[in-house]
Amino acid sequence: MITRHATSMAFVICQRHGGHVAPLLCPHLREAVHAGLPLSEIFYVEAWYLGDRAWSHHLCPSCAREIGVTDNSTIWKDDESLDRLMGIRDIAPVCPLCFDEAKAVA
Ligand SMILES: [Zn+2]
Ligand SMILES: [Zn+2]
Repeated sequence: MITRHATSMAFVICQRHGGHVAPLLCPHLREAVHAGLPLSEIFYVEAWYLGDRAWSHHLCPSCAREIGVTDNSTIWKDDESLDRLMGIRDIAPVCPLCFDEAKAVA
């Protein structure tokens, strides 16, 4: 049996922390991470496909609102959820250690 998985993780090479598998963040969270600013509330959204976790994003409150997410964490398991989540524009990976550091500032 062949199972194919979309992966929610990208790989980044951070100047400070080296290469890591990285979470995907909305531009506002990325900006805060890069600027070393305290992060606003983070909404973790996960989409499932064929009964399996397929994709995930971390969003700021306004990006979360834009796609109708009101809870952290939100998990979508309906058939359209993957398309809906992958359709969000301007999502990019951020070094997980930088992300952790930024979370610690708050
Ligand atoms: Zn945002
Ligand atoms: Zn880093």
